[in-house]
Amino acid sequence: MKKERKHGIITKVSGPLIVAKGMQDVQVYDVVHVSDKHLIGEVIELRDDLASIQVYEETAGIGPGEPVYFTNLPLSAELGPGLIEGIFDGIQRPLDHIYEIAGNTIPLGIDVPKLNREKIWHFIPSMKVGDKVVGGDIIGTVEETKVVNHKIMVPPNISGEIVKINELKGKITETVCEVKDKSGNIIKLNMIQYWPVRKRRPYAEKIAPNQPMVTGQRVIDTLFPIAMGGIAAIPGPFGSGKTVVQHQLAKWADADIIVYVGCGERGNEMTDVLMEFPRLVDPKTGESLMNRTVLIANTSNMPVAAREASIYTGITIAEYFRDMGYKVAIMADSTSRWAEALREMSGRLEEMPGEEGYPAYLSSRLAEFYERAGYVKTIGNKPREGAVTAIGAVSPPGGDTSEPVSQATLRIVKVFWGLSASLAYARHFPAIDWIRSYSLYQDVLNDHFDKHVKSDWSYQVRRTMNLLQEEASLQEIVRLVGMDSLDYNDRLKLNAAAMIREDFLHQNAFDKVDTYTSLDKQYLILNIIFEWYEKALQAITKYVRYERIVNMPVLEEIGRLKYVQEVEFEAAYQDVRNRMNEQFDKLGE
Ligand code: ADP
Repeated sequence: MKKERKHGIITKVSGPLIVAKGMQDVQVYDVVHVSDKHLIGEVIELRDDLASIQVYEETAGIGPGEPVYFTNLPLSAELGPGLIEGIFDGIQRPLDHIYEIAGNTIPLGIDVPKLNREKIWHFIPSMKVGDKVVGGDIIGTVEETKVVNHKIMVPPNISGEIVKINELKGKITETVCEVKDKSGNIIKLNMIQYWPVRKRRPYAEKIAPNQPMVTGQRVIDTLFPIAMGGIAAIPGPFGSGKTVVQHQLAKWADADIIVYVGCGERGNEMTDVLMEFPRLVDPKTGESLMNRTVLIANTSNMPVAAREASIYTGITIAEYFRDMGYKVAIMADSTSRWAEALREMSGRLEEMPGEEGYPAYLSSRLAEFYERAGYVKTIGNKPREGAVTAIGAVSPPGGDTSEPVSQATLRIVKVFWGLSASLAYARHFPAIDWIRSYSLYQDVLNDHFDKHVKSDWSYQVRRTMNLLQEEASLQEIVRLVGMDSLDYNDRLKLNAAAMIREDFLHQNAFDKVDTYTSLDKQYLILNIIFEWYEKALQAITKYVRYERIVNMPVLEEIGRLKYVQEVEFEAAYQDVRNRMNEQFDKLGE
């Protein structure tokens, strides 16, 4: 607190926004401490000596004339062991720790360190005295949880020669390594790094995403796949299964680390997340999913400004783990609530409102967030490859995606998983609408799947999409003129499409087998549906009665294939296929 002698004076208070004069020595995005209560604020605008400050805590009782103390430091994340399993608010205050000392409400101006200062970590060096290091180099590791090996890295702007490094059991603030820079200064490194949240962390090179992030969710992997380092949006009206999809991704996606940013959903949805997430079991380890998760939570009763900051805090933490060479998935739920916070602050700043009152910079802010995702080669002498895959949930009022936040998001993201209220109503889950959704990674990823899963993967995907689209137009005809107007070929087409919907796209997140499907199994289930369809078309040309074809007993077995465990699947698939062929042979007799 000694450095805080310099201060300005409050001239105006408007909810979470404060204006202060005498602020010529601060910079935009500097953190300040407001009044003698030391509320945390951030400078968001400067005009001459007047600063507009967004305050991350309740400003009731604060008034003009009170001081605003400078820290001359930008809003930064504290990065180091202790992030994993942590539950933080939008400016990385440790909610679990605060809860222990203060209970349910966060006391104003509470001064707690972001990362636990007491916990003892075991630092094991991976470099030695005399080694030359640059920013990004890994100097040692700490086993943070059973599944996360935390790499201690040289901060981006430091380089030199190691003059001291030791194995150590100690707190994150203890020096683990000393580096002599080229001017001969000794820089002591502990296990913490600081990084301004609004600035992206550096990398050596961004690589266009070309590998899938496999999720085990059939409609996603097969029809609308996401790349590792890619960006996706899930717009979903209430009750459409947004939360379940995100939980499925957190559990099953091919990611080492999960960062989940919950931005003030109405009501108590965030409390649900806080309760539920720690209970989720990581299928890969059988342990709590929290062992590789960082939670950032802003409930709607927290000040709106902290919500605005939360996605930057989240993505900074995600980038930090990416720099270690991890594949990170960050989920922001929901970016609509985040945008509302932006709108509120903009209104208080009396900026010119754009569409529906959102500021004109809504799109560029969203873009700045999503652009920090990607697949990168890291900095450092021995660069690693790491990825941040970003998935943003959007909750448009009334499910109407023509509103500004959905539209701005759609212009940025490459994958769109549109949840449909009517599918959810019909209990078709995941309710991802196959007609409206898309993935711009499809071409690259299908090449990958063709090479690594099955050579005709992409052909099969095209067939599936065509069939589903044709079904939609046939259904239109049926609605207008009735089923009788369709010939048997078209009726079979409808049957095959229904099989794709029910036996393939429909996936029960709560069934212990169906919850995850490997790519091979996804391919084979679709394959047997198409085989049936082709044979059915042939049978019709041989004057076999339509009713006999669509009542074949094997159809039920095909429908149950998704519930067959992976280890038994290949054999079960061959059995069903043999029976299908026998039954077709009989039809022909
Ligand atoms: P939202 O978050 O969009 O309001 P939820 O994710 O809470 O919706 O989903 C609502 C309900 O739909 C869940 O409680 C669950 O019963 C059902 N549901 C959603 N997705 C699935 C799924 N993949 N499998 C089975 N049931 C699902």
